[in-house]
Amino acid sequence: MDYSKMHPESLMMSYGYKPSLSEGAIKCPIFQTSTFVFNSAMEGKKFFELAYGLREKEANEELGLIYSRLNNPDLEILENRLCLWDKAEDCAVFESGMSAISTALMEFLAPGDLLLYSRPVYGGTDHFINHFLKKLQIEAIGFYAGETFDEINARIIATGKADKLKMIHIETPANPTNALIDIELCVALKNHYEPKNGEVIVSVDNTYMGPLWQHPLKHGADLVLYSATKYIGGHSDVIAGACLGSKALMARIKGLRTFLGNMAGPWTGWLLMRSLETLKVRMDQQAIGAKYVADYLKNHPMVKKVYYLGHIPEGTPEYDIYKKQYSSAGAMISFDIKGGEKEAFQFLDSLKLMKLAVSLGGTESLAEHPQTMTHADVPTEVKERMAITEKLIRLSIGVEHHEDIIHDLEQAFAQI
Ligand SMILES: *Cc1c(COP(=O)(O)O)cnc(C)c1O
Repeated sequence: MDYSKMHPESLMMSYGYKPSLSEGAIKCPIFQTSTFVFNSAMEGKKFFELAYGLREKEANEELGLIYSRLNNPDLEILENRLCLWDKAEDCAVFESGMSAISTALMEFLAPGDLLLYSRPVYGGTDHFINHFLKKLQIEAIGFYAGETFDEINARIIATGKADKLKMIHIETPANPTNALIDIELCVALKNHYEPKNGEVIVSVDNTYMGPLWQHPLKHGADLVLYSATKYIGGHSDVIAGACLGSKALMARIKGLRTFLGNMAGPWTGWLLMRSLETLKVRMDQQAIGAKYVADYLKNHPMVKKVYYLGHIPEGTPEYDIYKKQYSSAGAMISFDIKGGEKEAFQFLDSLKLMKLAVSLGGTESLAEHPQTMTHADVPTEVKERMAITEKLIRLSIGVEHHEDIIHDLEQAFAQI
């Protein structure tokens, strides 16, 4: 049987796990153990030689199990399965999306370097870039969706540190307005600077659309990052993160992970493996529901504007990026309500089936107010430019029947 020709969803129940190594258990057990017993001192010596890169791997040699900060079966099998969706060579899972993102930024940036990033990025990422990295003398320059190569390049040059550009970190679609960024444009900037600057890493936070609907590596990105708390976990019951890329880059990420000690634990690994079995059916269903909800909102008299990928007009530059990068319009919708904060809050406070909470991608539908919640810390100029106003409401569509979601929205609008 040629597993490499199968769809990832067909392999999520079995890939990388041998029942014979676990008393025939059909499911991978939770390896709740800190350390692993070596068969001999020589075996232990060999495992450590590989773990510390003291010698090359022999043909078919795998890194043996040593200690759960370095490796653990629940993490390794999960990492192998995550690789299938993004067609990545290797993966590292973390105890949160933020730890995946911060570890990647710290590994590939050093004091004096310049980071280019798309705005807005996730609030935690923005804070890490503009506070912690700044403290390390790493400068960062933001750009917006829709800007051209020349416009972004002018921003880089204006910093006076173009020769120090080492990393480009983007989030597309941008949260919360679904603005699109062209990954290939960022790769063109990377290629422009690499001959002079040495390695320039392009990393994409793919939390909003992945790992099903967008595959950044295919477009030339070096790293894909996830908050696995969102679609990958999918049940709003676990915090986790992941980073994927080439073997060489992941060796560096895993090296820093070992010393920061921010790997996910075995319980998290087990929960995420359970989640991955239904990833495709969940996300497909969420996208179907979202289309009904977005179409309903578009025609509602209380709604001024809907931000939804499925509504991007043909013939626009955004539509070209949408067609190139995405295989679905996704399940995240934002909209401007008529009125201001008062109307937005009345609406949010009146929802019954949908819950008023931040986060996204779970089986239950969620609603929130970006300006005062997830994006409260984003600078005013960015909020204005990205249409993050008091009118804006963000929805994450779950797996409920779309008629029930729409019924809930309808009764909440009626309360205003
Ligand atoms: C939630 C989120 C994060 C942070 O992930 P945690 O798992 O909460 O640490 C990063 N990026 C995006 C786009 C997110 O939605």
